[in-house]
Amino acid sequence: LTLLRRDHYYARSFSKIELMPIYDVSVPLSAATPTYPGDPGIEINQFLSLTNGNAANVSLLHFGAHSGTHVDAPAHFIADGARADSIPLQTLIGVAEVIEVPPAVKVIDGGFISESCQRREERVLFKTRNSSFWSDNASGFRSDYTSLDVSAAERLIDLGVKLVGIDYLSIEAYGSETFATHHVLLGKNVVIVEGLDLRTIVPGRYEFICLPLRLAGGSGDGAPARAVLRTLPTN
Ligand SMILES: [Zn+2]
Repeated sequence: LTLLRRDHYYARSFSKIELMPIYDVSVPLSAATPTYPGDPGIEINQFLSLTNGNAANVSLLHFGAHSGTHVDAPAHFIADGARADSIPLQTLIGVAEVIEVPPAVKVIDGGFISESCQRREERVLFKTRNSSFWSDNASGFRSDYTSLDVSAAERLIDLGVKLVGIDYLSIEAYGSETFATHHVLLGKNVVIVEGLDLRTIVPGRYEFICLPLRLAGGSGDGAPARAVLRTLPTN
């Protein structure tokens, strides 16, 4: 019943939704996009080109599944975990709350979740100081990004959250050797969205639409995604 009520806005005001502003919260993918240390770099080359006398332009893509804005599937850290191409679309599309994290908070913990996640949406996106990093990609990867600890992950699971998003290339503190936040979230099939750009987003409730590529090869650990937020109708 709770779920039905949450998604009721679709049926009630579909025509209004089509008129609401849409914000792109994915980052552009190019060789200039920072990547997580140890991951492949991003190369996008011309495989065929009109200027070379080919009949068409065709680009060749070379990058890791965790490049730019992307989802982490359970298979990223859990043997035999669910693959990115099997994440339910119902999880990837629906109402999300964008929560502002003050710049002084470098680690989102359980206490912060208890204070800030009162609406209990199934999708929660954290707008942190990380979003401003996207203004300066020339400086490369930043290891001092704001992250989410195990107590926060456990609290989000208690609240019934199904998808957690953050605005840099990992949700886990840099240098972690256990990857405990990933293990806790992915172990409960909570989808992680990393690499969001929430610079222009005013905190609040939106419709979130995140569509990762339906990669069927590889280990299913993740996939780059286009992600947008759409303003919800007011009634
Ligand atoms: Zn990832």
